[in-house]
Formats: sequence, structure tokens, C-alpha cells
Amino acid sequence: MNEDMTSTPQDPPLGFSISPNACFWWATQTGNYPDAYPEGTLWAPLRGRTGQRVDHWETLNGVRPGDVVLHYVAPEIRGISQAATVPAPAYPPLRGYQEPADTDGVLVLTEPLSEVRIPWNLVADALPRASGPLTVDKELRRGFFFGVDRDAALSLLQRAGLAITEHPGGARGSVVPSGQYLGGHSDRWALGAVRTEQQYLRNQQLQLRGSSCSLCGQSFPDELLVAAHIKPRSECSEEERIDTRNVCMVACLFGCDALFERGYLVVGDEGTIESGKPAPGQVGGRVRELLGRIRLAHDERSRDYFVWHREHHQDRFAPQS
Ligand SMILES: [Zn+2]
Repeated sequence: MNEDMTSTPQDPPLGFSISPNACFWWATQTGNYPDAYPEGTLWAPLRGRTGQRVDHWETLNGVRPGDVVLHYVAPEIRGISQAATVPAPAYPPLRGYQEPADTDGVLVLTEPLSEVRIPWNLVADALPRASGPLTVDKELRRGFFFGVDRDAALSLLQRAGLAITEHPGGARGSVVPSGQYLGGHSDRWALGAVRTEQQYLRNQQLQLRGSSCSLCGQSFPDELLVAAHIKPRSECSEEERIDTRNVCMVACLFGCDALFERGYLVVGDEGTIESGKPAPGQVGGRVRELLGRIRLAHDERSRDYFVWHREHHQDRFAPQS
């Protein structure tokens, strides 16, 4: 037992539970760990610079919700997380990745479980040679993402002082594609995926646009702002769905999110707020306060999404002539 690495004697052992068939993965991270780990992003390009396939990127496609990821930053494992979504097409997250913004890639969202310090000598001792991240000489293979032998990973984590339990009957999640959870899955991972993904989209929007509601323009604490889809995801094409920077905006919880989503507010071609469907009673009062304001999220790249939203809501309620 190595108490000095992960806990002090008076602390209860760190621990978490996993499903009996969860797989283990290894992510070698360099400078991007401080951004990517807390934000829960694992992203890899689809192809290399010359269009070639890269096997240690394609491994990301094998991750399923509930799988466990060991995050390695030389010279030690620094974090453990659990996958919340299945891999989905995505452009690089804003923070932690240096590829151009329109690079096609694959994204898995994770929930951080615990930060640890598991040194390389323990890793090299526990994991099998010539497998996963280890070469035949028990050195670290070059590359990003590798599968790890399950029994060896469990033994490594136990030797590092983590208590791992298996929750009986829990299946390795397989049916919660990121962005496609609208079908009412009861899988416990669906909830994790919704929460993790909303957090991811909100972080992305806050970094892009700052902490102001894209509708009323007022500044609020981050916890009172949400990422809102301009065009609902269920109506988006594959291509639009991964365009999360432009198909989303920031909306406040003081009415803007709800009024826009339900079509009481729409945005005209000049980027100003117009009324949408008829707003009864006090809803109308709130709508009138916002009319004429300039939408902060309206630009060339988001214009078509606002057009869709306006036509969708105004057409349905336009007076018939
Ligand atoms: Zn607002």
C-alpha cells in the first residue's frame, strides 16, 4: 500500500464503483491536462496531417459510457475519469487542443472521478509489457489513447490505494450517443451524458461569448446561464449538430431561454429581437421589454439557424390570408 501517494492514513480511501464490464483506457496528456481533465474532454482528429489513419487516435472510438480512463501526465497518472458519452463527431474543444477550429474529430465527454498521483514505476510493475501503453521494454509507447488490460488496471488502482467496487447488474453503457439522447433512455448514463454535455456546451459558449445572456445582454453569474440551441438539435443535420459553436448561444434563466425556445421571441435578419408567436398576459410584457435589442450571438455563422427558428415559429402563427 502506498499511503503517501493518494491518501493520508486518516482519510478514507478514495474509491468509486464501476460496472462489471467497464473497460479501462489510458490517455497520455501533456500540456492540455489542466484544461481537458476538469472540462471532461477527450478529443482526437479523424485523420493525421497527410490524411493518414492514426491507430492511437482511432482507439477513442471504442470508449463507452461507464468506462474508466487513466490520465497520464509524465511522470505519473494524475487523474481518473469515467466516460459519460459515446464517441461523437466534433470539432476540437476550445481549450486544451491546438488543432484548427474546423478540424474533424471525435469527442468523448468524461466525468472526473479523482485526482491521484500514481508513479510510473508502479504502472510499469502492474501493466503487462507489449500491451496498451507499454512497449515490450516496459516503456511508454508514443501516442495518445490506448486500451488497458482490465485486471491489470484494477490491480494497479488497488495498489495505489483506491477502493474499486463493482455495482452488480450495471451494464456498460452502449446506447447514449452524445447529442442523441432524446429518445428517453432510462439508462443511468443518459443522465450523466445530459449533464456532462450541457456543461461542455455551456463552457464552450461562455468562453466564446462571455458571461452575458445572448438575448437580453445582461451579465449574470455562470450558474444562471445555460447553453441554448438556436435550432433544436433534433432538427439539425449531422453537420449542423457538430457546429456547436454557432448553433448554440448563452441564454439566461430569467426568461430568455424559455421565451426563445418556445418561440415567443425570434430574431430578425438584422439581428434584432422581434416578437414571435402571440404572447399572453404578462409574457407579452416581458417580450416587449426585449423587443429591438440586438442579439449578441447573431452573426454570419449563426444567421441560418436564426432564420430557421424565426420561420419555424412565425409561420406556424402567422395570420392566414
Ligand atoms: Zn437574458
